[in-house]
This record gives sequence, structure tokens and C-alpha cells, in this order.
Amino acid sequence: MRTLIQGVRVFTGEEALPGADVLIEDGRIGTPDGGRVDETVPGAGRTLLPGLIDAHVHVSDGSLEQALSYGVTTELDMFCLPDNLARQRRLAADRHDVADLRSSGVLATAPGGHPSQIMANVPPELGGEFDTVAGPGDAAAFVAARVAEGVDYLKVVIDHGTTAGADLPVLTPDTVAALTEAAHAAGLRVIAHAASAADTKIALDAGVDGLAHVPFDAAPEEATDLVARCAAENVFVVSTLVYVEWLSSGQANPAQTATPLHLDDAMTITGMLAGAGVRLLAGTDANLWHPQHGVSLHRELELLVQAGLTPTQALAAATSIPAATFDLTDRGRIAPGLRADLLLVEGDPTTDITATAAIAAVWRGGTRLTLPHGRPEVQVGPK
Ligand SMILES: [Zn+2]
Repeated sequence: MRTLIQGVRVFTGEEALPGADVLIEDGRIGTPDGGRVDETVPGAGRTLLPGLIDAHVHVSDGSLEQALSYGVTTELDMFCLPDNLARQRRLAADRHDVADLRSSGVLATAPGGHPSQIMANVPPELGGEFDTVAGPGDAAAFVAARVAEGVDYLKVVIDHGTTAGADLPVLTPDTVAALTEAAHAAGLRVIAHAASAADTKIALDAGVDGLAHVPFDAAPEEATDLVARCAAENVFVVSTLVYVEWLSSGQANPAQTATPLHLDDAMTITGMLAGAGVRLLAGTDANLWHPQHGVSLHRELELLVQAGLTPTQALAAATSIPAATFDLTDRGRIAPGLRADLLLVEGDPTTDITATAAIAAVWRGGTRLTLPHGRPEVQVGPK
């Protein structure tokens, strides 16, 4: 099967090119050669992008399917339990109509620490007991168990749950450092969940590679030093602004947030990170409830532009940058030989970011998705 997308504006993952032809052949992006074509797709007035990558989600049954229907071809899960992970990985391996998946598997938290209080409320097929880390002496065994499960990176949590009105047990700084050291020795990147400035500093002191959220329980004046350190130490940051928007909207379950969060502060810090040249990755924290898989990444891109990124920078944060950060060398860009994970939209999202939501077609590994209900409707922000 050879598909030719004709005369289309291309966002390569890094820059916009006017009027190109793109060939899809055997699941890969090919080089147009004037040879036989089985299907022609008109590209005039449209833009072809690499399939989007959401760099912070939590998968459950149905989420990979929903993600792909919104053009998210790869989801990076940041905590799920082994049975669920095995089930979702089978889907991603067997089916063309679901997003691909990478995962941290079980995250590292203190006994009774965040998100134990959330896991008490999930359905049985997603929940159950999970390993925790009581002190630095547990770090090596915890990481070895994750390596045995075949995880793609390690997630650590440093969060007292203050934004949920709780005072939860938390990993000590020496435990975070021991986990980071053990993960690096095993060749795994470490991504830290921290909400406050003080907890983010613990993560940076431990030498983590990335932050799973823009610090959303910090005031901009508290973040100046953290932003400078992320830039100097080449620490990446996953944005999750749509998650902060949800938590600050007043619509979240009262158990999820007790103290009002300030989206404007998180937006300001995001702008500071972008201005300092910190690597930003678009992520949503999509989960079983809100934000929702797939659709929320389009809102995240819009929030990133409102925070000060150019549309092109925001699109790179959802394509080439997460691919390079997580060694997904076969995707995230449009170039010959790469996986044909592609999103075709009406209009030009490199000048108007909201155009990503005007989905015309999605390909996953070269297979065009049949959209079950036509073009999916994208809800922008909380109602
Ligand atoms: Zn999360």
C-alpha cells in the first residue's frame, strides 16, 4: 500500500515547510519517487504533523483508543500497575487503532504516600497493592523489580498531598537520591512528580532527569532558582497545564484538591521555563477521570501558546522533543524511514495552534484510522 499526501504544508517536528508531497509506504514515511500510488490524499489547505506524543498520562481500558482518535499516536504513562500495564501493552502491540505506549510501571512513593489515596478509589482492574519505598535501603530492590517488569523509565513522587488538603508520608531526600542512583545505574531515566518549590528542589538535588509537572503549588517568585537550575542542569519539564486548569476550575472532586491552585502561576512559570530555554514536553496527566485522553492534549497546546511558546515551539513539545528525550528515535518527526505516525489537520497550526483540533486523518504505523464517529469533537477547557 502506497499513500501519497499531495501538496501539503508539513510541520517536520521542528519547522514548517510549505507545499510538499509525503509518501506512506509499508508503515514508514517514504520518499516520493513518481511510482505507483494506491491512494491519494489532497493536502491543499491542510497541515501534516508527526503523530502527537502525550508525555504524561495514566492508561486504563479504552484510553489508548481514545488517544489515537485525537491524533495522539504515543502515550507516555507515568504510573500503572503490572496487570493493567500488561493488558495495555498487548493492545498497543496487537492493534492499529490504539496509541502506542511507554510506561514507568509502578511509581516510587513512601508507604501510604501519594497517590495511595487516589488508588483507593480506582476500579479493581486498575488497583491493588503495589510496592513502596520505606527508605534508601529499599531503593535498589525497588528499581530491580521495575527493571524485571520491563519499564521504560522510573517515576518518583515527592508530594505531601497539601494541594489535596492531606499530610501524606513522603520519600526522604536520601531515598530519592538512592532511587535516582539505582535507576541511572540500570540505564533508566528518572522523572519526578513534585508540586511545591521545596519538593522540586529535593528532586533536582537528587539529580533527576525530568519533572512530571510544572511546579503547580509554587508561586513564580519561588520558582526563579528552580527555573535556572533546570536550564543549567538540562532537566526537562512536562507541562500538564490542562491538569492544573482542571484542578483549579472548581469542578474537580473535592478529594482531589482542597486548596485552590492558580493556573496563572503555573502559566507564568511555564513562560519562565520557556524563556530560560528549558526543554518543555507537552503532557496532560490524562487519567481515568479528567483530563481526558487525547482531547486534552489539544487544549494543552493552546495553553502552552498562551504561556508564551510560539505555536511551532508548542508543536515541537508534543512531537520531536518528547521523542528525542525518551529515545523514541523512530517517531516524532516527518522524515524518510521513520514510522508513519501522522496527523493531518485542516488549516495551519504553526500560526493558529487551535487548528490541531481540526482533524482530517490519523495514521498509526502507516495504517489510516477509521474515525468511529467522524471527526472527533474537541472540547476546549473545562465547561
Ligand atoms: Zn500523573
